[in-house]
Amino acid sequence: MKVTVVGFWHAYPEVGEATSGYLLEHNDTKLLLDCGSGVLSCVQQYCDVNDLDGIVLSHYHHDHFADVGPFQYARIINKGMGKNKKEFTIYGHQEDTASFNKLAYKDLVNSYAYEEGKPLEIGPFTFTFKKTHHPVPCYAMKVECEERAIVYTADSSYFEELADFARGSDLVIAECSGYKNDHVGQYGHMNSKDVGKLARVSDVRQMVLSHLPHHGNHAKLKNEVEEEYSGEVTIAKSGLAFIL
Ligand SMILES: [Zn+2]
Ligand SMILES: [Zn+2]
Repeated sequence: MKVTVVGFWHAYPEVGEATSGYLLEHNDTKLLLDCGSGVLSCVQQYCDVNDLDGIVLSHYHHDHFADVGPFQYARIINKGMGKNKKEFTIYGHQEDTASFNKLAYKDLVNSYAYEEGKPLEIGPFTFTFKKTHHPVPCYAMKVECEERAIVYTADSSYFEELADFARGSDLVIAECSGYKNDHVGQYGHMNSKDVGKLARVSDVRQMVLSHLPHHGNHAKLKNEVEEEYSGEVTIAKSGLAFIL
């Protein structure tokens, strides 16, 4: 499978970029993991929107789902031009019913509620979910395909079960919202020290730092994670792709 960073910013996108969004592909199945602001525009650098099968959402904060509405409009416009090729489904949790109920749109977008502890198969991918520690209900996700596993932490402060969930995976896309002296845990986020601990405890092969802060030099985040962890650490940037 292949995963491409579409957007990596925390909270809001900087010029020409996007907040959380990762394009997951295997053969003809193409999904977005999260769909924050700027993602619909940026994903078109890597994929025709009409080739997408759907979006899997971690939670309903704007930096993870703001572009759902624009996607619905893309479906209606492309239908008018006869370009919609596939069914399109948005997967989300149902703990915030008002937000979940906005995912489906006319007969153009389906919605599906995933649940923790219940594996979900989408094309060649098997998803499992783990509730994180965040001010609103949010789920980390593990994607398995042909004996490879990617874990996306979504938004969370550090907790041991998150490391258990990530254990042994080939690639972890971890939120890293602050430098080691930034006290982001109180807001339900991880700093570089937390991410380093997650990497070390879960013994993963490779870490990608994402959901990056708008201050400081991101290269420092990598150095700080490497104080805790000796594996490979990469800082997310637009278009960065991994093939597993
Ligand atoms: Zn959030
Ligand atoms: Zn976020």
